Amino acid sequence: MSFPEHLIIGGEKVKPASGATFETINPADESVICKVPEAGESEVDQAIDSAREAFDDGRWSDLPPAKRGRVLRKLAGLVRTHNAELARLETLDVGKTDFDAAKIEIPTVANILDYYAGFTDKLTGDTLPSEAGVLRMTLRQPIGVVGAITPWNFPLLLATWKFAPALAMGNSLVHKPAKVSSLSALRFGELALEAGIPAGVLNIVPGAGSVVGDRIVTHPSVNKISFTGSTSVGIGIQKKAADTLKRVTLELGGKSPNIIFEDADLKAAVRGAMTGIFYNKGEVCAAGSRLLVQRSIYNEVCAAVAEQAAKFVPSAPVPGDPRSARMGPVASKAQFDSVLNLIQAGKDEGANCLTGGSAHDNGTGKGYFIQPTVFNDVDNAMRIAQEEIFGPVLCIIPFEDEAEAVAIANDCSYGLAAAVWTQDVARALRVVRRVDAGTVWVNAYNLYDPSLPFGGFKASGYGRDLGEAALAGYTESKSVWINLG
Ligand code: NAP
Ligand code: MG
Repeated sequence: MSFPEHLIIGGEKVKPASGATFETINPADESVICKVPEAGESEVDQAIDSAREAFDDGRWSDLPPAKRGRVLRKLAGLVRTHNAELARLETLDVGKTDFDAAKIEIPTVANILDYYAGFTDKLTGDTLPSEAGVLRMTLRQPIGVVGAITPWNFPLLLATWKFAPALAMGNSLVHKPAKVSSLSALRFGELALEAGIPAGVLNIVPGAGSVVGDRIVTHPSVNKISFTGSTSVGIGIQKKAADTLKRVTLELGGKSPNIIFEDADLKAAVRGAMTGIFYNKGEVCAAGSRLLVQRSIYNEVCAAVAEQAAKFVPSAPVPGDPRSARMGPVASKAQFDSVLNLIQAGKDEGANCLTGGSAHDNGTGKGYFIQPTVFNDVDNAMRIAQEEIFGPVLCIIPFEDEAEAVAIANDCSYGLAAAVWTQDVARALRVVRRVDAGTVWVNAYNLYDPSLPFGGFKASGYGRDLGEAALAGYTESKSVWINLG
């Protein structure tokens, strides 16, 4: 199979002038997949200049809105046609199961493009009630050049959360994918050109966050930063972006509570606990990493969770075979080390390791496999209950009653997602209202839809991706006052 070899700048497939490349690694066997072209500051500047020029001359923003929609739908179609290829890039780069990549992630990329294609000719301003002699109205206009910086857990999907609404509204973009997972975005950039996205409107520049990301965040020609990643990097970005007063949207980390009450359908709740933490090996910002269980059913749930968790034995995904792996390796060596360190911290803090608790050797001695790990008798003050582990590690915490469940849920710096399992509608709705989270599931976990906004409270960031809500982040409102004489 061939791999992308070019940056996408100004509508061209270009190699960096320096010839710089970096290796990208398959976490299933630690082999080098290929060398990825690496942007330096001069490539980033070129990308920003071409995005600026493309925006300022209106080659995209001034098109008839429905035409922008047609191009985005064409791109959605190309993503569907290239589903297997894009899914394979994700599987190789970050160890996704083929099912997750080919049946969930890439099809969702296409669906999100279609969803926002529909908004190109539907987002309107207002005509306000005005007295005689005056007409007042508002226009919604694109912001300009958007810098998109994204992580490696859903490489193309989270990039599309930015691309689709930004493009639909007529902005130009410069995108920096995570170094760990740049291949799918580069291939997507080629498909975007094929679909008819004009030159300079979507630029893809892989490279290090400290170089490429930093340049995008500080460059005066960039109007807005849309970032998904860790809270610590997000805080740094917000500070630096302040110097040029860029608009900033931050989708950051989480430590989401998954709350099971004694009246819940326990079989469904335990299944939800598994989906909540082991889907995509726990490398999900909204992972249900704190399982809060009512004391009366605590022992029963702990036993069922431990039994089910042990079935998620990690194995190497075989690209093209949706049945090949239930859970893949974690995405990188850095992630492998970081997850194992936090597992050790949990042991040192005195949490009880019910199952798992170490790396998994699949017989080859290679690959970043971690056993599905469950701690119980966790105190919410422990590091493993407060820090985002971003791996297949679940902490079970008991509670007595609803008030205590909500208190534990909210005793955390993050506020990205939560779930509540109960048959009592009133209780579900009380918890929905009181929990600090941008998304709350009732009797479900890890479900997403293009129409439903996604984002955080507290240290999980601000602004919303997805839904009509995301469009606010890619438009400026202009108030117009017309004197009718
Ligand atoms: P990260 O370390 O914050 O990196 C995210 C992106 O920022 C990468 O592209 C990274 O580049 C870049 N970056 C790093 N330093 C930078 C700097 N100084 N200036 C500009 N850009 C910089 O996060 P990650 O480890 O990739 O991803 C995991 C995190 O993302 C978790 O905390 C997770 O919860 C969060 N996440 C949040 C959501 C959400 O929607 N809320 C969704 C998914 C993930 P390089 O790494 O390539 O150098
Ligand atoms: Mg990799």
